[in-house]
Amino acid sequence: MEYDVVIGLEVHSELKTNSKVFCSCKNEFGGEPNTHCCPVCIGLPGALPIPNKEAVKMTIKAGLAVGSKINDIAIFERKNYFYPDLAKAYQISQAVRPICVGGGVEIEDANGQKKFIRLNRIHLEEDAGKLIHNPKIGGTMIDYNRGGVPLIEIVSEADMSSAEEAVAYLAKLRNILQYIEVSDCKMEQGSLRCDVNISLKPKGSSVLGVRAEMKNLNSFRSVTRAIEYEIKRQSRLLDEGEEVVQETKRCDDAINRSFSQRRKEDAQDYRYFPDPDLLPFRIERSLVEEVKKTMPKLREEKIRDYVDNLGLSEYDASVLTNDLNLVKYFDKVISYFNKPKFVCNFILTTLLKKVKEEDEADLVVPISAENFANLLSMYESGQISQAICRELFDEIWETNEDCKKLVEERGLKQNNNEDEIKVMVEALINEFPQSVADYKAGNTKALSFFIGQLMKRTQGKANAQIASKLIKDILDK
Ligand SMILES: [Zn+2]
Repeated sequence: MEYDVVIGLEVHSELKTNSKVFCSCKNEFGGEPNTHCCPVCIGLPGALPIPNKEAVKMTIKAGLAVGSKINDIAIFERKNYFYPDLAKAYQISQAVRPICVGGGVEIEDANGQKKFIRLNRIHLEEDAGKLIHNPKIGGTMIDYNRGGVPLIEIVSEADMSSAEEAVAYLAKLRNILQYIEVSDCKMEQGSLRCDVNISLKPKGSSVLGVRAEMKNLNSFRSVTRAIEYEIKRQSRLLDEGEEVVQETKRCDDAINRSFSQRRKEDAQDYRYFPDPDLLPFRIERSLVEEVKKTMPKLREEKIRDYVDNLGLSEYDASVLTNDLNLVKYFDKVISYFNKPKFVCNFILTTLLKKVKEEDEADLVVPISAENFANLLSMYESGQISQAICRELFDEIWETNEDCKKLVEERGLKQNNNEDEIKVMVEALINEFPQSVADYKAGNTKALSFFIGQLMKRTQGKANAQIASKLIKDILDK
């Protein structure tokens, strides 16, 4: 039987405030276990929470960026459940009155058509601590450093119908959150992670099927796998006339399977109720206006800026703006070396390839913008050859050593002397008559062969363009 797939996502994103959401402990990834803690965030009796205004502002900012309505009054509630990394046995969250409601983002579906994914809400809550399972001691340790870190939960409507759409939606959200600088969005460190709700229904049916929830996915790949696995599992059950039970699952990437963690409770099972320690709070319009003023350019505006003012192509600008870290790096590089198109080309061809090779989920360029600008400037002005430029690029990627100094010390300057290159070219032509014959027979590879030989003999220092022109001049005669 054929089924429609119905997918909704709950995306959790840690906010990068200086302190935690209800106390003044440091909000920082890592650190010695249990050193960023106080009576409030480990839930000692009598400790009282105080909301972090910066976290509220960042939540509003996220809401404004995706077109949500900002509620006038918001309420913090207790979501009751026991879990070892949640010392209070409840999480402070929001249910009936979140800070933001509605809104949405646009993605492209499989046919390249625009599709609008509606948001239900964005609410502010606290993160839990972290359990570290240690087989050596045969037990589990708890680190409460993460407990109380501000977290926004962005809840979508069930508007997606494939793994590709879910990933496109997640990528879009990540991009927006990164641009408005409310979160690091480091998926590997867990500052962006998501739960996927998925159900199947007979094709065309309007009745929703029973859903399963896959928890804590922290890479695009794990989202794709989890959805594909779940589609197979649920369609097999439905084909065989069996029942799909509502449940929460943990995914095991390593063996590509999912395990039932618990039978899923509904909202009422958490027994939400207003936190008596925290009064409902009014969000003044003036605060919303204040936040609006801090809204930076989002990706679409940045693309327009690059196309209209720097002369980049639509495609290049779109690849470049995919990651805010790259945008910042690029902007810095062109402040030292103002040839945007040249810099962009090198980034898109050589630099991004390198990033992919390193398989980093979070884009980091280890070469300082100034050093990189110097390298490209030497290449563009013909002081060093393309071959040397690539070699140096690989090297300073590891060391970030001053590339100008390296060129000076090792005598890597390109040889642009036409007379000298001509002597070498003529020698090669005499030495390899077979390649001359190949060239004359129309085999273009012969030209590359000569250039290759020349580079070998000059350690990459000969100007390839001059050499190529000379070879053609001589052989085409
Ligand atoms: Zn604390």
